[in-house]
Amino acid sequence: MAAAISAARAGASVRLIEANGCLGGIWTAGLVPYIIHAKRESCLMDDIWRRMAEQHDSRLPFFNPEDVKFVLEQMCEEAGVSFQLHTRLAAAAMENGRLRYAVTESKSGRQAWGGKVFIDTTGDGDLGALAGNGYDSAHEGTGLFQPSSLNCLVAGLDSAEIADVVNDRWAMRKELEGAGVAPSYGLLGASLFYVGAGLYFLQATHQYGYRVFDNAREQTRATVKGRAENHRMVCALRGLGGKWRNIVMVATAEQIGNREGRRLHGLATVTRNDLMKGRKQPDPAVSGVTYLMNVHPVKLKGNPAEIRKMLAPVKPYDIPFRALVAKDVASLLMAGRCISGDFFAHGSYRVTGYAVPMGETAGVAAALAARTGHVPHELSWETISDRRREVREGHP
Ligand SMILES: Cc1cc2nc3c(=O)[nH]c(=O)nc-3n(C[C@H](O)[C@H](O)[C@H](O)COP(=O)(O)OP(=O)(O)OC[C@H]3O[C@@H](n4cnc5c(N)ncnc54)[C@H](O)[C@@H]3O)c2cc1C
Repeated sequence: MAAAISAARAGASVRLIEANGCLGGIWTAGLVPYIIHAKRESCLMDDIWRRMAEQHDSRLPFFNPEDVKFVLEQMCEEAGVSFQLHTRLAAAAMENGRLRYAVTESKSGRQAWGGKVFIDTTGDGDLGALAGNGYDSAHEGTGLFQPSSLNCLVAGLDSAEIADVVNDRWAMRKELEGAGVAPSYGLLGASLFYVGAGLYFLQATHQYGYRVFDNAREQTRATVKGRAENHRMVCALRGLGGKWRNIVMVATAEQIGNREGRRLHGLATVTRNDLMKGRKQPDPAVSGVTYLMNVHPVKLKGNPAEIRKMLAPVKPYDIPFRALVAKDVASLLMAGRCISGDFFAHGSYRVTGYAVPMGETAGVAAALAARTGHVPHELSWETISDRRREVREGHP
């Protein structure tokens, strides 16, 4: 969405393909209504949150996912982005090493979409993989993945009565244990956040060991397991009575929250060392990233020795534009959690406060490349950065 709106604002003709029935990915279908590090250099994020505040009285960093669905659709329409929901990428067609068509399947059948430049923002790196770009996934040494999480929204709670558990993951975990259900979120406790309109976001499950990014059977099993656990938790809490007497399940996520997909190979790779050293880059697509290296436990009982340091602070580092440029496929950019990085670095840059400015930069670069007949890696960083500033200033 960020890439599409920015590319359109930069003058490109843009088509956005989305598998779900709404825009927003993890914010909406994934029911993660919480933006980590939202207040970063990003004109688009500012635009989204100004509208969310004006139209829906939202307060950063939390929001009602239903509201953001509506705002994103409005913003895409206003920018002239032609988007098609319920449409899944199924194949890619190449010509002379260059990606030429993205092939999708939907109610309209099989369709091929020609383009001068493509941006993979599938999170899982589906387009890059289909086009034959190299990628890594999982922890290099052990082959283990971070768990997925299926989240839910609940309501029926009295804010004064539950003030002691909201935003306190250990207090919430204790409540659940008291109700007889130890959440699979394990070492991370259990999170209950207020997102507005009487709705609370519950994140208390981990689905360990499922390969959800390229295996529909495992994705289904993880989803069913997560949904059942959420229902069990809500039911058990209601059974406690007292402050939980009226708790109801409002919705479980359509899209299982997948932390680990493909990390597509790019012209540069963000590494753990970059995070630890606070490396600056000559082409900062995003500068000064400070979110910690947050590798969720790969097993219920924690991480093996190789992945032990799951929570480590970072020094402010940059995400280079080259990490958004596919290494093996000309005319392909990427943004969000599928950019080029190692297992540990991904644990930091993957959060949505950085996915949005990555998308903005990729969108501007794609528009420039399409207009000038170049492939993205031929553009100078100065040209991209100047154009991004113009686009940002045109849309304060
Ligand atoms: C459980 C969980 C909790 C998290 N908690 C937070 C949090 O509290 N705050 C925060 O800021 N970050 C959080 N993160 C991290 C962050 O949300 C993700 O890394 C974020 O999803 C990155 O955005 P994205 O756009 O790359 O991917 P996504 O949000 O997953 O978006 C990918 C989009 O591509 C679409 N798509 C995928 N494949 C196809 C296909 N083949 N064809 C068509 N469309 C396709 C999807 O439907 C989706 O709309 C969390 C992540 C998870 C998994």
